[in-house]
Amino acid sequence: MKIIVPYAGIVLLVGPSNSGKSTLLKSMIEKKQILSSEVVSSDEFRVLVSDREFIDWRERPKDEADCLLDEYQTISKEAFSMMDSVIDARCRLNKLTFVDATHLHPDDRKRYIALARKNHVPIIAIVLDIPLDTLIERDGQRDHPRGKRRLKQQYQTFKREKRFIKKEGYTSTYLLDETKHIEFIRRTNPI
Ligand code: ATP
Repeated sequence: MKIIVPYAGIVLLVGPSNSGKSTLLKSMIEKKQILSSEVVSSDEFRVLVSDREFIDWRERPKDEADCLLDEYQTISKEAFSMMDSVIDARCRLNKLTFVDATHLHPDDRKRYIALARKNHVPIIAIVLDIPLDTLIERDGQRDHPRGKRRLKQQYQTFKREKRFIKKEGYTSTYLLDETKHIEFIRRTNPI
């Protein structure tokens, strides 16, 4: 599939954990189709603000799990606030930014649509629609598995949201059911 990438603006990756967002972007960097500095990732910003990428609260007693979840949400809030500043600045400088986060909740996506509009740049969505079985299978191979329960929750949200994404106001939307054979075609001028 050919994905037409704008000269400047925002490319929003959308998909549950393990759908392959970071892997796709990494392979595009390796192929020199995009620059590593064009990718802004929530995992990396969590590390930047807190030294921690992931907090595992699976199989913990409820009180402890609630506490860890709170901590994770506080870290995420700070990480996204920093990320948004960077994306905003890059839009103002007429740069292209790939945003690597799940973007499963409509408010998260709408924030970036508003940011793109404010800066008069296009925003495209690349939606990774991978079966739940595959997401669970890939989880077993990760250093920090997200856990079946969390993946199932994310997948349910994704399934519900999928049909609305096209109508949310992106310049274009690409729905991918696998990430092989993707070619990014970059616009070389602002038009
Ligand atoms: P998260 O939102 O949790 O960061 P993600 O969508 O960015 O997840 P990746 O980090 O790209 O997902 O991949 C998660 C795991 O799935 C990794 O172990 C990766 O190697 C594997 N994976 C990703 N894409 C593929 C693929 N196309 N084929 C096989 N394995 C894959």
